[in-house]
Amino acid sequence: MNMMSIIVKCNNCGNQTEMKSEYVGHQIYLHRLLRDADFSIDTPNFEYSGELDEIDDVDDIEVRIREVRISCQKCGDYIELQEFQ
Ligand SMILES: [Zn+2]
Repeated sequence: MNMMSIIVKCNNCGNQTEMKSEYVGHQIYLHRLLRDADFSIDTPNFEYSGELDEIDDVDDIEVRIREVRISCQKCGDYIELQEFQ
């Protein structure tokens, strides 16, 4: 039903997975699907704007994902995803 998928391929050892959404809302559950295919995904690295000790309202803090690393559990190679906006 969903025509889009994400392929993660390690060119070092050949480990590969194609992740397709099995859900109505087209979501992909990255952590689970990658783990089942011998990949792992790190907790995203965040970037915060402003001086945190000068902010009174938590809504004034802007948080962006800076990078996300996907690692191959078979050989240890990895790729970093960046520029989320
Ligand atoms: Zn690998």
